[in-house]
Amino acid sequence: MTVKKLTCPVCGSEEKTFKVSEIYIQSLVRLKHGDEAEAPIIDALQQEIPVERRDKLKGSRYYRQLMESFAPPQGESTASRAINPDWVAVGMFLLSLFFLYQIFATQYGAFWYMVIMVVVAFGAYLFFRTRLLARYQAQRDQESGQRGLVEKSVGQWMKLYYCATDNVVFGLKKDETVPIDQMRPYLLAKSQ
Ligand SMILES: [Zn+2]
Repeated sequence: MTVKKLTCPVCGSEEKTFKVSEIYIQSLVRLKHGDEAEAPIIDALQQEIPVERRDKLKGSRYYRQLMESFAPPQGESTASRAINPDWVAVGMFLLSLFFLYQIFATQYGAFWYMVIMVVVAFGAYLFFRTRLLARYQAQRDQESGQRGLVEKSVGQWMKLYYCATDNVVFGLKKDETVPIDQMRPYLLAKSQ
């Protein structure tokens, strides 16, 4: 095999160094296609496990563990993405039109009272709108800043190598190494 190697700053050897992104990809291949799938790096890493632990650490459990340890940095969950307050207001307006129509048809006595409530509510929205929009914009800026940070640290991750002898990653800065379990905080700190 002629994969480019990098010399480990700890042991001074390149014999057991592997590219982090390739370990990750090959562990995914094994997870998806099983033990028979071609993944020479995973085979080599498996040889590094002490014999007494080799029986416990195999199969999909081992591949998943590898995949998780070597995975690239990811952003926070996107579940709480900022929503433009104007869209919320438009939605509320349509909803209140619907309710007003219902009240108009069934309880005419309360209709004008409800109209005043809706007008007051939207007046309040317009009053606070500038502040709400500013908060929305700040949230958006934070989200895109974080996206940039994650993109940058994935770029750094692509350059990393792992030494199986010393259980460290390296390759960003000459002679700098970190334990594999510190990889993600290290990458994020490097991308600030
Ligand atoms: Zn080493």
